[in-house]
Amino acid sequence: MVSLNPFKDTKRVVIKIGSALLVDPESGDLRKSWLESLSVDIVRLTSAGENVVLVSSGAIAIGRTRLNQWDKKLSLSEKQACAAAGQALLTQAYEEVLSPHGLVTAQVLLTLYDTEDRRRWLNARGTLQSLLAMKVIPIINENDTVATDEIRYGDNDRLAARTAQMISAGTLVLLSDIDGLYTADPRIHDDAEHIPVVESMSSEIMNMAGDENKLAGMGSGGMKTKLAAAQIATKAGCDMCIMDGNAPKPISRLLDGEPCTWFKATQNPRDARRQWISGHLNAKGHLTIDEGAHAALKKGKSLLAVGIMDITGAFEKGDAIIIKTPNKTEVARGIISYSSKDAMRIIGKTTAEIADILGYDYGTPIIHRDNLVLSDK
Ligand code: GLU
Repeated sequence: MVSLNPFKDTKRVVIKIGSALLVDPESGDLRKSWLESLSVDIVRLTSAGENVVLVSSGAIAIGRTRLNQWDKKLSLSEKQACAAAGQALLTQAYEEVLSPHGLVTAQVLLTLYDTEDRRRWLNARGTLQSLLAMKVIPIINENDTVATDEIRYGDNDRLAARTAQMISAGTLVLLSDIDGLYTADPRIHDDAEHIPVVESMSSEIMNMAGDENKLAGMGSGGMKTKLAAAQIATKAGCDMCIMDGNAPKPISRLLDGEPCTWFKATQNPRDARRQWISGHLNAKGHLTIDEGAHAALKKGKSLLAVGIMDITGAFEKGDAIIIKTPNKTEVARGIISYSSKDAMRIIGKTTAEIADILGYDYGTPIIHRDNLVLSDK
């Protein structure tokens, strides 16, 4: 069984691929043979039972070549135009290398809002969970054509970390053009030392990012955004690694122990998520549930509308809710999949009746078990 790192084995791996790995910085051409080698690595992971999610940059770089804009300095809207032209080719390139191995890909384009707004976050998470359940490899990028300056990540490092958090991944690998974090920028300082493991994201570590040179026309991330990604990932219970992905089969090289920097998570993804739900979200309402529903929750089941007796508070889909028994004891907290208005209309109803009443359903449970934390656990 493949274990990506010595720390944990959650069977969910996010791999971020930077533009400079996919597209030759000199010619602007796609590095097809490198991509083929990556596909062999992905097969190795999926055969070992890992769910693999790719966060791939490269739409703008590929689009520049396609639209003959390679050597020019582009405005934001021109870059967005290039992304629109390049994104389809980017997804197609992955499909071409993965489908011969029997793997199916799916394109997922996200914006900052999709990862920051809890309602949209729940939707995106649901879609990704379904894709993974169907053994599909999601290929994620920022939706560059609609993401304007104020609402865009601009770099895929943080997007990859948010994605890892969203799907409770145990490992995030940033394939980069540098083999990890150094005490100073090694291109400028000869005495810069490589750091193999970072135990905690101290201010000393954050200050090591420095200012960097970037290749014209290529990606927009640097060590700063990678450290910001490490902050997000490690807090979410995900170990993160920065490695030099340039040579073929980067993941195999990582598994063979090639030098890189590991950022260690402070807890596991499950506990991070529990903490997030139970501690960091202000509850917007209360649900009173019957004994049958309480017993189901204790067995690890989702909360269904049929077991709800009463609702108080005004809340929206994605808000945090306190769950109580009729004697007013708090038994759980969770993120609800319906607004209070809609939840009112379906309490006590069976799953089969919900779509008829509302004209839609958000995947049946009022609160999915993944979004529930029991008080006595
Ligand atoms: N979303 C951008 C692209 O596909 C890349 C952002 C980044 O460089 O990380 O070109």
